[in-house]
Amino acid sequence: MPERLVIVGGDAAGMSAAAQTRRRRDASELEIVAFERGPYTSYSACGIPYYVGDTVKELETLIVRSPDEFRKRNDIDALIHHEVTAIDLDARKVTVRDLESSTERAEGFDQLVVATGATPIKPNWPGIDSAGVFGVQVLEEGVAIRRWVDDEKPARAVVIGSGYIGIEMAEALKMRGVDVALVERAPQPLTTLDEDMGAVVAEQMRAMGIELFLEEKVTGIEQSNGRASAVVTDERTLPADIVVLGIGVRPNTEIAEAAGIEIGTSGGIKVDRQMRTSADGVWSAGDCAEKFHRVSRKGVAIPLGTHANKEGRVAGINIGGGYETFPGVVGTATSKVCDIEVARTGLKVTEAAEAGFRFVTDTSDSTTRAGYFPDTRPIKTKLVVECQSGRLLGAQIIGEEGAAKRIDVFATALWNQMSVAEMLNLDLSYAPPFAPVWDPVLIAARKAWHLVEETMLVDPE
Ligand SMILES: Cc1cc2nc3c(=O)[nH]c(=O)nc-3n(C[C@H](O)[C@H](O)[C@H](O)COP(=O)(O)OP(=O)(O)OC[C@H]3O[C@@H](n4cnc5c(N)ncnc54)[C@H](O)[C@@H]3O)c2cc1C
Repeated sequence: MPERLVIVGGDAAGMSAAAQTRRRRDASELEIVAFERGPYTSYSACGIPYYVGDTVKELETLIVRSPDEFRKRNDIDALIHHEVTAIDLDARKVTVRDLESSTERAEGFDQLVVATGATPIKPNWPGIDSAGVFGVQVLEEGVAIRRWVDDEKPARAVVIGSGYIGIEMAEALKMRGVDVALVERAPQPLTTLDEDMGAVVAEQMRAMGIELFLEEKVTGIEQSNGRASAVVTDERTLPADIVVLGIGVRPNTEIAEAAGIEIGTSGGIKVDRQMRTSADGVWSAGDCAEKFHRVSRKGVAIPLGTHANKEGRVAGINIGGGYETFPGVVGTATSKVCDIEVARTGLKVTEAAEAGFRFVTDTSDSTTRAGYFPDTRPIKTKLVVECQSGRLLGAQIIGEEGAAKRIDVFATALWNQMSVAEMLNLDLSYAPPFAPVWDPVLIAARKAWHLVEETMLVDPE
């Protein structure tokens, strides 16, 4: 009898783990079965806003591999519409509910990967279950939103929550000709940025015609004939023909926790560097798993596809008998809203303070191309830098182009614990169409280093 690997969750982390394992162990040695409760496997949730906004025309292009392809190409049995409802570690069995036939059965495993992703936060507001109110987490929700926009032709949308999913959905709806209002209880959009940088994003979103209602709490959703008709906040009532929830997510650890698998301080499943959980033969990867932050040295829950794919690969290599480790994250993320690119890496001010660093911050304004070059655009860079050592702790960039890719230079520097003094002479590329002679990255590093030097003179402790 071959050994049996069961995967719970058929997207980025789960199916990366399955595919990597299969590369190392063939079907005569290891049977691989994946259970996915939704209708798709290996899809790009990241592409949902672009599918809704019609930048991506065909749904099929967001699906990397279907269950049929997994069966034919990888000898992996990927069963959609199958939800795992419980894990029994002693009996080495999972309980699986077939959502089409509404029947339940037990399935045995020798090894198990929990790749259940994240659960969107859904408050208990009156009216939240009305037609026309959508979450955005899995592909079927993206499909439902696009269908609603195509068929119902909403004139007004309210997006609740302004994390990167909220702002990307605001852009998508705007691109479809819908008037968009965005409600956020924090004083700024994108709370992964410092407040001053968030304020810049707010200003630019307003200039693009997106209405922003900050520091307002939603209290309910009004409906008419079962359909959402308005979002009510503690300040006003906003008419809405479609409501999109982007309030955030938490690691989906329910079945793991119930089975007694250890949960980390961030709320994600605790894993070691090989992606093993506290239970023998049970692995975890992706949004449901805790990550190690290389700058704060803390466990964090950062739900990003880039991590899910890498962690799934690492788990799969190890299950397959190889050896690989996941070295952690530095908190790099990027997004765009209309013409504005927003990117961050490392720690923002409050995070650096919480992690116990003493630091300085500096914000510099520059341009994306040589000043004389046509279409040069402003770009703003903020750095958080440790006192004395000058070690880079975090960076945030807002610009009309080049922010997303420039953040990768800072991410690489952070990864290698570089100081801004080491960064300021980095051999970065220069030609007038791509950068000023002093790239914004180098200007930011140079200015921050001067500040660190000044702090040293004042307080040479
Ligand atoms: C709109 C949007 C935009 C995004 N943009 C970006 C981006 O630009 N860059 C980036 O890095 N990341 C982005 N992400 C995040 C990225 O999509 C996720 O981090 C990634 O999909 C996580 O992969 P995962 O496999 O861990 O979880 P998921 O993709 O959530 O997959 C988990 C799967 O498990 C299934 N499942 C859960 N519980 C069970 C169960 N009990 N039984 C069976 N199946 C179960 C779910 O149906 C789901 O399909 C975006 C996400 C969204 C929603």
